[in-house]
Amino acid sequence: MATLYIHIPFCRRICSYCDFYRVGAMSLLPNLVPQLIAEMEQRAEYIADKRLTSIYFGGGTPSLLPPEEIERVISRARELFDCSAVEEITIEANPDDLMEEYVARLAATSVNRVSLGIQSFDDAVLEFMNRRHTGVEAEEAVARLYRAGFRNISIDIIFGIAGYGDRLADTLRRAIALDVGHVSAYHLTIEENTRLGLLERRGEYQPVGEERSEEEYLAVHNALVAAGYEHYEVSNYAKPGCRAKHNSAYWRGVEYLGIGAGAHSFSRDNRTWCVSSAKEYCEGVFRYEGEELSEADHLNEYVMTALRTAEGIDLGLVASRFGDSEVERLLRLAESWIEASALKLKNNYLYIPAERFLLSDAVIESLFL
Ligand code: SF4
Repeated sequence: MATLYIHIPFCRRICSYCDFYRVGAMSLLPNLVPQLIAEMEQRAEYIADKRLTSIYFGGGTPSLLPPEEIERVISRARELFDCSAVEEITIEANPDDLMEEYVARLAATSVNRVSLGIQSFDDAVLEFMNRRHTGVEAEEAVARLYRAGFRNISIDIIFGIAGYGDRLADTLRRAIALDVGHVSAYHLTIEENTRLGLLERRGEYQPVGEERSEEEYLAVHNALVAAGYEHYEVSNYAKPGCRAKHNSAYWRGVEYLGIGAGAHSFSRDNRTWCVSSAKEYCEGVFRYEGEELSEADHLNEYVMTALRTAEGIDLGLVASRFGDSEVERLLRLAESWIEASALKLKNNYLYIPAERFLLSDAVIESLFL
C-alpha cells in the first residue's frame, strides 16, 4: 500500500515566508498535466503492489488547475494503480481561487477533501505575508465549499508572527467558527531564501522569542482542544473521524510516489526526488536524484515522525520491523525523559504529551540510532 502525491509548482504570487519549490511562470501551466500523466506512467512501478490509499495534490497552488484537468490525472491514476482502497483525494487550494463556478466544477470531480491555505483572518497579517486574499474572502470560500457539498475541509493557519501576537485570538475564534473538520497550525519559520529572510538579514524583522512562541503554541493548542479538536500531530488538529489520511500515512512510514518537479518519493529501499525545473518538466524532461536508505535511516525516520504524533512510537511495530534489541535501546534512552515527563509509556507506545510537542526536538534526536 502506498500514497500518491502530485506537485503543482505554480503560484500567482509568492508569499513572504515561503521557500517551497514554486514558480510564477504561469504560461507553462497548460503543459503541466500531460507531463504529470507521462511521468506517472513512467514511474508507476515504483509502488511494488500498485495499491494506493490516498491521492494528494499539493503545491504550489493546485487550485490554479481547472478541475477537469485534476480529474484527468486522477482518472489516469485509477488506470495505473489499484485505487479501490482510496478514501481520500485532497487538493490544496488558495481561497481566492474558490469562486462559485470553480467550486461547482470541483464538486463534480473525485476530489473529496480541500485543504485551504488561509494562514490568518487578519488582513494586516495577510498583507504582511503577501497573501492574495482577505480574511472575509477566506470565510466565503469555506462557505462555498460547504454549499457545494464538501464536508472534508482543512484550513492552515500560521502563528508566531512578530508584532501580530495580539491578533491571534481573533484568527482562532474565526477558524473555530467555521467548524471545519481539520486545522493545521504552523509556527512561522524564517527561511533564508524568502522575503522574510531578507527582512531579517536587514534587521527589519525580528523573529518572536522562545517564550512568546511557546505562549502562542499553547494558545492555539488550548483553543482548538477546547473546541473539540484532537491534537494528533505536532501541527495538526482534527475533529473525530477527520484526521488527514494522506499525512497520517507519511507519519506511519508508508511508501509514497511523488510526481512533479520537486516531488519526493519514498520506498523501503530509497528516497528519490525530481530535480527538473518547472520549465524542463513541462517540456517532458524528468531528472532525478536519490539516496539509498539503510535500516538505521528507516528507524530514525520512524522515530522522528512517530514522536510528532499523539500515538507516538509503536514498540510492537519496532520489535517486528527492527528487532527486540531496538525496543530495549529505545526504552533505555527514554528513561530520563520519562522521569522528566517529556515522554510517556502507555500500552506499549512511547509518546510525547501534546503540550510538550513544541519542545520535542531534543527528545527525538536523543533516540536516534
Ligand atoms: S501559495 Fe503556498 S506555495 Fe505558493 S508561495 Fe504561497 S505559501 Fe508558497
